[in-house]
Amino acid sequence: MAAVSRRQFLLGSGAIMSASMLPGGNLIRDAFAEELAKPDYMIRMGTNENPWGPSRVALRAIVDSIKLSSLYGGNRRGLVSLIGDINDIPVDHISIGTGSGEILKTAGMLAAMDNGSVVCADPTYHDLVRYAERAGAEIIRVPVDPETFQTDLDAMYKAIRADTKCVYLVNPNNPIPSIIEKNALRDFTLEVSKDRMVFIDEAYFEFVDDPEYASMMDLVRDGHNNIVIARTASKIHALAGLRVGFGFAHPEITQRINAAKTGAINALGVAAAYASYQDQEFQDFTIRKNRESLDIVEGMLDELGHRYIKSHANFTFIHTGRDIREVNQEFRAENCMVGRPFPPMTDWMRVSMAKPDEMRYFAQVYRKLLG
Ligand code: PLP
Repeated sequence: MAAVSRRQFLLGSGAIMSASMLPGGNLIRDAFAEELAKPDYMIRMGTNENPWGPSRVALRAIVDSIKLSSLYGGNRRGLVSLIGDINDIPVDHISIGTGSGEILKTAGMLAAMDNGSVVCADPTYHDLVRYAERAGAEIIRVPVDPETFQTDLDAMYKAIRADTKCVYLVNPNNPIPSIIEKNALRDFTLEVSKDRMVFIDEAYFEFVDDPEYASMMDLVRDGHNNIVIARTASKIHALAGLRVGFGFAHPEITQRINAAKTGAINALGVAAAYASYQDQEFQDFTIRKNRESLDIVEGMLDELGHRYIKSHANFTFIHTGRDIREVNQEFRAENCMVGRPFPPMTDWMRVSMAKPDEMRYFAQVYRKLLG
């Protein structure tokens, strides 16, 4: 084995190829020891990012479009038109945001401007809710079902008041990676949107593989008013740092959102998203690898008999039974950065899926600390 180092031999050429794509480096499995070595970098498992970095096609588009940096927004129209084609939705139904977070915050602000309350599940994603609260809206938090931890639509329906201007649903939810059964969601959305906005955040919808799940995009497509669907380029497309997201709604709401938004999308983000949304291979690859990583973690938890929420996204949620702030410090010391506390479930740990080898290392650390 003269020309090939032992490291190259152990990793194989495929691993070397993927190592060049890594933001952080690669984990070396020592074939002669049972254990994976502690990596010399912090594994990011705290913010539900895509661990593979943008697709090669997107990276090329970013480099090629650097010269467009002098322009406001680049080929924004081209991107909206592409997203319209992919979703079979007219362009006057689409808003672009600096991340879907901008669409969420704008909707929250509109509810507050209308002197309304907002109904949401608890726990759920914070952007819309916190922004609405700071802008003066009252937030009505409805606990998830205490047995299944699923979003409780019946309880949310009952919580709606005359002044409720927005009902916010995250599907799959975050930090709990659960889904809402599609028929119940459809009935709920049609009924509730008669009098107020139903905002459905589908940031993780590409990861779902379950016949019980459906996007509610067709309701917008069919012309129903008062329904907003949010999607993002931050997750499966790995473009979180370039800030691109979308809102889909009836033109009346789209105009209100566009008039109230304060951000402006940038030329590099537009070019990267335009390329990435056409790169189906990369999306399929991400889904496959995400499943591989989830299998490693869920398999380990099943073996230990530990409680967790079956994932429909790129993260899992594990019951540790301990104050998660302490647990996080212990994982950090092992170079594993896991999710922050999510009140009121502060003894649960949200773990975003990194690469399979990194999740093998995480599983080893988990067994040592909590097994
Ligand atoms: N919605 C959900 C459910 C999320 O988890 C996130 C980010 O983690 C976002 C929206 C915001 O994503 P972005 O603003 O990057 O599009």
